Amino acid sequence: MKLYHLVTSLLSVNTYFLINDETKEAVVIDGGENYKKVKQAEQSLGVTIKAVLLTHGHFDHAGNAKKLQEDGAKIYISKIDAPKLKNELNLGGNFGRAFDYLDADVTFSDGDKFTICGIDFEVVMTPGHTDGSATFIVENMMFTGDTLFLESVGRTDFPTGSREQLVASIKRLYAREGDYKVYPGHQNFTTLEHERKYNTFVDYD
Ligand SMILES: [Zn+2]
Repeated sequence: MKLYHLVTSLLSVNTYFLINDETKEAVVIDGGENYKKVKQAEQSLGVTIKAVLLTHGHFDHAGNAKKLQEDGAKIYISKIDAPKLKNELNLGGNFGRAFDYLDADVTFSDGDKFTICGIDFEVVMTPGHTDGSATFIVENMMFTGDTLFLESVGRTDFPTGSREQLVASIKRLYAREGDYKVYPGHQNFTTLEHERKYNTFVDYD
C-alpha cells in the first residue's frame, strides 16, 4: 500500500490517496473540494478511485464527493454525518461555496471494519468537531480529519460541535496502545506520541 497526499480546497484540506500497488486501485480519504485536482492526481498516479471515505460532512472535505460518485467511486461517511451531505450543515452556504448534494453509498458506525481495494480500515468515531466525525485507522496510521491536528485540535464552534466530546474523542485515540502516524485533515502530519506529549488543548480542562 502506498500513501499519496495532496492539498485541495479553498481551506487547504489534506486529501489522501491510499493505493493498492498491485491493482492500481485507490481509496481517497477526504476528496476535498477541487474535483479537477483530484482527477489530475488520479491520472498522474495511474490509479482508479474506487471509494472516498469522508472523515465528516463539511463542504471543504466533501465538496467534490458527488462528482467522484458519478465517476463510480463509492462514498463512505458515518451514519450521523451522512445527512450533512444533503443539508446546510455541510456549511458550504456559510462560506459561500456551492455543494452538490448526494446520498452516501455506505454509512458506518463506531468500531466498524471494512476492506476496500485490499486495504483494511477500522472506524473510531471521534465526535466533537461534528457529532459524526470519524477517524480511520489503517495499519499504523490514523486519519483524524478535523479532530486532531499537530499540537492543535479541530474547531468546536460549528453546529453539532462539542468541546467536551472532542477532548473525550482524542483521549480515546490516545488510549490506543503504541504509536501511530497521524494524518490530519489540515496542516502538517504528526504522531500520536508527539500529541500525547505536546498537545496542550487536550489537557486544557
Ligand atoms: Zn470540518
